[in-house]
Amino acid sequence: MVKCPMCGTEVQPAKTWQLVSPLPDADSRLTITVMGSFKCPSCGYSWRGKVSVMKVGPNGEVEFQKGKTKRRKKRKKEREEQPRGGTVIEIDISEIIEDEL
Ligand SMILES: [Zn+2]
Repeated sequence: MVKCPMCGTEVQPAKTWQLVSPLPDADSRLTITVMGSFKCPSCGYSWRGKVSVMKVGPNGEVEFQKGKTKRRKKRKKEREEQPRGGTVIEIDISEIIEDEL
């Protein structure tokens, strides 16, 4: 769940999509960034932001990242660009894999 940056209401993404990095990482895993578009039902503010990041391994294993781990130095900058970014929500992984095929 992501909170509205304007009023703090918890908002579900109206739409999500995945950005797949063309290059696998050192462990041959693909990095998939899940982006979302949000519209606050309370104040009407709409925005887009990163919902979550996950890595899919060559055997289909999936690892979710919260976006704020491992990158302490970038944290401040990320927060400026995406004040409420990095929140993990539940998504249907099988749907994503179907998109990739
Ligand atoms: Zn709002």
